[in-house]
This record gives sequence, structure tokens and C-alpha cells, in this order.
Amino acid sequence: RLKETLKTHFGFENFRSKLQEDVVKAVVKRDRDVFVCMPTGAGKSLCYQLPAVLAQGITLVVSPLIALIQDQVDRLKSLNIPACSINSKLPVGERRLILADLGSSSPKLKLLYITPEMVASPSFQPCLTGLCSRGLLSYLAVDEAHCVSQWGHDFRPDYLKLGSLRARLGIPCLALTATAPKNVQDDIVKSLCLSSPLSFVSPVFRSNLHYDVIFREILPNPYVHLYAFIKKALGQENRPNSQGCGIVYCRTREGCESLAYQLTKLGILAKAYHAGLKAGDRTEVQNEWMQGKVLVIVATISFGMGVDKATVRFVAHWNLPKSLASYYQESGRAGRDGLPSWCRIYYSPKDKEQISFLIRKEVKRRQEKRGCEKDTDRAAITDFEAMVSFCVQEGCRHAAISRFFGNTAPSCAGACDFCRNPKAVRAQLERATALSTT
Ligand code: ADP
Ligand code: MG
Ligand code: ZN
Repeated sequence: RLKETLKTHFGFENFRSKLQEDVVKAVVKRDRDVFVCMPTGAGKSLCYQLPAVLAQGITLVVSPLIALIQDQVDRLKSLNIPACSINSKLPVGERRLILADLGSSSPKLKLLYITPEMVASPSFQPCLTGLCSRGLLSYLAVDEAHCVSQWGHDFRPDYLKLGSLRARLGIPCLALTATAPKNVQDDIVKSLCLSSPLSFVSPVFRSNLHYDVIFREILPNPYVHLYAFIKKALGQENRPNSQGCGIVYCRTREGCESLAYQLTKLGILAKAYHAGLKAGDRTEVQNEWMQGKVLVIVATISFGMGVDKATVRFVAHWNLPKSLASYYQESGRAGRDGLPSWCRIYYSPKDKEQISFLIRKEVKRRQEKRGCEKDTDRAAITDFEAMVSFCVQEGCRHAAISRFFGNTAPSCAGACDFCRNPKAVRAQLERATALSTT
């Protein structure tokens, strides 16, 4: 029956993944709250939309932005699934029509999208209470649930009111978010008062990515070292029509420029990409890289959003990323084609001190502007600390990432420097320590 609905109502032949299917099955059972953590594009909306279609009554969907809501409502309407949204932007006439349907004995609506502000708004309470007391609500779905967490980077105070809504409605609740650190996941479950939810967390482990960390300051010549890494990563290619390429991330514009220059001088054409370039030049560099005319792009983190190139053979970080979550995302641009790819951080304690200083300064600036401390302030610092310990630990790098995202440790099978050669990792740490104390 699920497959049939998938086809007749949504026009899909199959579930996107086993995980998507499992979530839908769990939701339609209606006996437990459900928590879903799957990457963007994995098809989380369907996890409540399909059960909503099958259920008697109305599914209440909370989503943070009117633009996101409008998108979804339009898509559902085009599929002939009765959906609408009540929000502050809605013309009075339309609002009256919707409320009339909701007030009738058997409303036609299947999905009602609202913003968290609306949940709290006094004008919406009679409608909500009415639906609830007449038993017309089937599910509460909270999309972008990380907005409830002070640890998340998208915290919205209004999301905190959803816990009491959830308690008041007494219907199964479904919380959805994209890949999130374990502390954010825990926060969601707690704040939304989910009662021993069934959790579906997609695995973050990608066995084709080879992680390692190199201490930059103990190298005789860091540029030559990077050059050799790039040569090796690109040289593994022996399929002529799919030339590999790579990204070097660098924190500053000047850093990008000088690295690109050094690499080019050593014999690999590399170009810089950063916000200091004219928009036209930036687009040109990106295009040249996309078309394979330039194999290496040396960029600030502004590069990569929405860039989807399958043959990225390496991602190197010349400076530390500001959190393990961003590192996972940035390094994850490598190896989308599933072939072996290399992810390396060039770690430097000086670099660490500098970035730590900048993060603290920014936190302080925010506090002064606001006039008080907040948990979110600590989040930026904790996130960076997780990044640093990833670099200075003696342990499997894949395991560190997996644990951070609430997965169990995967079997790395030599896809990181520690699992391949723990002694070398220790020796490097010892040399770096010796250097810093002399
Ligand atoms: P998410 O919220 O996880 O980022 P969406 O729910 O927006 O993802 O879905 C992403 C895309 O995947 C949408 O275009 C959606 O139509 C599509 N999609 C979802 N489920 C399936 C499926 N079973 N088969 C094919 N496409 C699907
Ligand atoms: Mg979504
Ligand atoms: Zn490992």
C-alpha cells in the first residue's frame, strides 16, 4: 500500500533509499515518535507527506521560513494533494476560506503548514484548539528541527515553544533535520519532548575518503609537500576522459593568492578564488575548474556551496576549519563518484591559536552587542574544540567524525592515517610537541 501511494500520489516508482522507506513505515505505525537525521536532498519531506496522505485527518507541519513552506505547498498542490499554509503574509480572504474548511465537520485539507511564530500567535489558537479537541489532527511534523537547538547555527527562539505544543496535541510527532552533530540531535529530542523516539540517522561514513592530518610546522617545505600530495591524488587517475581535480581551502584571500602562485610555480596550474575577486573573475575561475581547464582551485570557504562535481579527487585544508561539522561538509566534496579520494588537513598550532582568538573575539562582540551571555556563544568554541581534537588525537579519523554525528564507529579499513600507521601519527605528534617546547 505504501508503494502504491508513492506511485499514485507522488509519482515515484521507488523509495529513495531503504532509510526513507523505513522511516515511512515507522511513521504510519503511529505508535512512536520518530526522529530523522538525513542529508539535504535525501527526501525527508516525503517521510511525513506520504503518511499524511494515508492518515485520517490533518498533518500539522512546522517549518521555519515562508519561502520554504510556499515551495512545498505549491509542489503538493501540483500533485493534487490538499495542502495549504496559514501565515502572516496570507490575504484575509484566503485565510477565511482555509479557516472555514478547518472548522467544518470533515475538512478536506491533508497538510497544514505553519511557521513557529504562528503556533504561538493568539489568533491561531481557537483553530488549533478546535482541531485538536475534535480529534482531527493526525501528525505533528517539525521540519528543520535543528532550529530548536542553541547548539545549532540556525537557532530560532520560537521553536522552543514547540515542546509544549507537542505535549498539548497528544499525537505522534516527527522531527526532521539534515546531518547534525550529536549534541544538536540530543537537544532536539529534549526540547520537543519526544518520548523515546525511534531514531533514523543516516550514516556519515564514506569508505572511499582517505583522511589524514599533517603538522605543517614540522615540514621542511610545506608547499612542496602539498604539491606532492596533489600530484599523487591526481596521478591515480588512469581513465582518460574523467580527469580528476581538487580543492585547497585556505582562510584568507592573501593565503589563496600565494598558495595558487606557489603551486603554479611548482608546476600545477592553480587559481585563487575568494570574495576579493570581481564577480566576473570569480565565475570565470569556477567555470575553468568545472570544465577541467584548471585542475586545482585554491579557495576560501565561500567556494563550494552548490558546486557538484563528481571527480574531485582531493580536498586539502591549508588552515583549520572552524568546526568538525563544516570540515565534514567541505571535505565531503571529494569523491562524490565513489572512487578513492584524499582529504587532508595541514594542521598548525599557531593557526589554531589565531582562529581560536578570532572565534573568541567574535563571541565577545556578539555578547557586548546583546548585553548578556548565551549558550550559543559557547557552541562556536565547543565546535572548534572538536575540530582541534580531531587533529591532535591518536585515533581513527573516521570514527571521530562518525561519533560526532551520533553514529557508531565504522570499520575504517585503513582509510585514515591512524588506522594505516598509528606509530607514524604518534611520531608526528611527538615531533610537533618537541618543536613547540624548545
Ligand atoms: P530534504 O528535505 O531531505 O532535503 P526533499 O524532501 O526536499 O529533501 O527532497 C529532495 C528531492 O528528492 C525532491 O525533489 C523530491 O521530490 C525528491 N524525492 C523524494 N523522495 C523521492 C523518491 N522516493 N524518489 C525520487 N525522488 C524523490
Ligand atoms: Mg527538507
Ligand atoms: Zn581510521
